[in-house]
Amino acid sequence: MKIWAIALIAMFLAAIPLVFADTRPEIVKVVYDLRAEDHYAKGSSSANAANSAGSGYSIFAKWTTFPVNIEVDTSGIGLDATIVLTTLTSSGEEWDKYTSKEIFGLVKQSSGLVVETDTPDRINEIVFGSISNTNIIAQTTIWYNRFTKVIVDFDMVFNTYWTWGDATTTSGVMDLQNIATHELGHGFGLADLYQSKWSEQTMYGYASIGETKKRTLASGDSAGIQALYGK
Ligand SMILES: [Zn+2]
Repeated sequence: MKIWAIALIAMFLAAIPLVFADTRPEIVKVVYDLRAEDHYAKGSSSANAANSAGSGYSIFAKWTTFPVNIEVDTSGIGLDATIVLTTLTSSGEEWDKYTSKEIFGLVKQSSGLVVETDTPDRINEIVFGSISNTNIIAQTTIWYNRFTKVIVDFDMVFNTYWTWGDATTTSGVMDLQNIATHELGHGFGLADLYQSKWSEQTMYGYASIGETKKRTLASGDSAGIQALYGK
């Protein structure tokens, strides 16, 4: 074979990695919407086809640095800031009960928080604001490294379309602890479950006014957090 032919083949082989190089950023985001049960036509989602095996949980990434701390801007929810902090802490501690790892750290009050959409600021933020789609109760965005599956940031918006409160003492409210426990499950690496057979799990992707069952983990939730962080 002529030397130029070998050189051509060598150049071609060298160019292959360039052609197939993946130029997407390392840090990607996933967004989970918690939907209002009575407002939404069920059964259309294929997002959790992987759950059909019967494990009762679905995981996508996890934290490797602990504890995971949160900043919350309590303006906009119409509740006492201390109550909001205490409630969110209860939600975080619920996940910690099922693993020896101290995942959840603390929640501190912060003002003027703005949830970023393009690049993670690596501050885990919770805000109470308007989401135009009123079917959505709350939305969590999780930023993670798509190669290592390590979470670097999560942010939550609780939709102020809904009236928030403690459903065990006030009727007609969306229970903050109930929803926050679900959303923190996303923050720690668990995905939504949409099939009705998972309706008793905290990570079930629908909720409703007055509901409090998501405050305490069910068997799939605890199995999921243990799959991520150990027993
Ligand atoms: Zn969810």
